[in-house]
Amino acid sequence: MVYDFAIVGAGISGLNIGWKLHSLKSSVLILEKSKSCGGRMATRRIGESKFDHGAQFIKRSEASESLMEFWSSKNILEKFPIADNDFYFGTGGMTRLTKEISQNLNIKYNSKVTTLKKTDQGLKLILDNGESIVSKHVILSCPLPQSIELLKHSEIAFDSRLENVNYSKSIVNLISVQHPLLENLKFVENFNKDIYSICSQQIKGLSIDYSYAIVMSDEWSETNFPLPDDEIKEKSMAVLKSNFGSINVSDFQIKKWRYCQPTSTWPELYHQPQENIYLVGDAFGGASVNGALRSADHVFKIISKKLI
Ligand SMILES: Cc1cc2nc3c(=O)[nH]c(=O)nc-3n(C[C@H](O)[C@H](O)[C@H](O)COP(=O)(O)OP(=O)(O)OC[C@H]3O[C@@H](n4cnc5c(N)ncnc54)[C@H](O)[C@@H]3O)c2cc1C
Repeated sequence: MVYDFAIVGAGISGLNIGWKLHSLKSSVLILEKSKSCGGRMATRRIGESKFDHGAQFIKRSEASESLMEFWSSKNILEKFPIADNDFYFGTGGMTRLTKEISQNLNIKYNSKVTTLKKTDQGLKLILDNGESIVSKHVILSCPLPQSIELLKHSEIAFDSRLENVNYSKSIVNLISVQHPLLENLKFVENFNKDIYSICSQQIKGLSIDYSYAIVMSDEWSETNFPLPDDEIKEKSMAVLKSNFGSINVSDFQIKKWRYCQPTSTWPELYHQPQENIYLVGDAFGGASVNGALRSADHVFKIISKKLI
């Protein structure tokens, strides 16, 4: 079979296009290298608690409107309880939001796309397990450096200035403690030079314990990223103790993101290295879930005009 569209990546941008294309009755296959969807909208279980270890929130915007309506209709979208904010999260975790979108979509998991090859019927996508599929159009929704790697490996030319868009690295500490780190701590941003943000997972209803996702600063993450996990944990603990005094930890894991958020944005909402390949994601629309959605929406509009 030759698909109309193959989407590489089942993060929010790939799912958003897949979800919208689905209603246009095109044949669409999403290929995802991990065993589940969500990408950087990620939730992990540790003991009795769950932690969002990627995006904590999504804001209401034109780009997120239709999805927010959909999630609200399923009763899985909640407003974070702090004053003067526009932060929403998924009941049961951010991944839950993406899982709900993925319900009726054709997604092949554990399928890393390694190469694209031109054929008479379209593009052949070769997977790391040796399988391949053919599609008339390909949408790459990976973090931009990973899309570039795929294009290079496939010997497909692209605008070389794309390589100037870098991503920050991030280390996230996922921690459950016996006492609150600070009284009434729900969410705090730009905490200090070592800690970027702290979000209570208890307030989100993901944990009955005092559990927090602590995103370390870009600088701290960049410096410590190459260290083995045990050393990162040790250094993280030293930072936490110096900020919050002696803490009694019941669970502690770390998550390392090689591609956390783009540090600059490409001036256009997508890139098209050749007629049947589109690059989308937060590198194009802006460093957030909304940015990823904006880019995906734009490409969906271009594609749907051609289909109708
Ligand atoms: C720690 C952290 C905190 C954040 N906090 C927020 C926040 O609070 N609010 C906010 O709006 N944004 C936040 N963000 C940013 C937000 O998560 C991202 O901008 C958004 O989720 C990007 O979505 P995406 O679909 O473009 O990319 P991704 O979510 O990265 O999805 C890309 C997918 O492609 C897959 N993939 C990659 N290469 C291949 C391949 N070769 N073959 C097959 N599949 C492949 C990946 O496995 C992944 O599932 C945060 C990010 C991080 C890391």
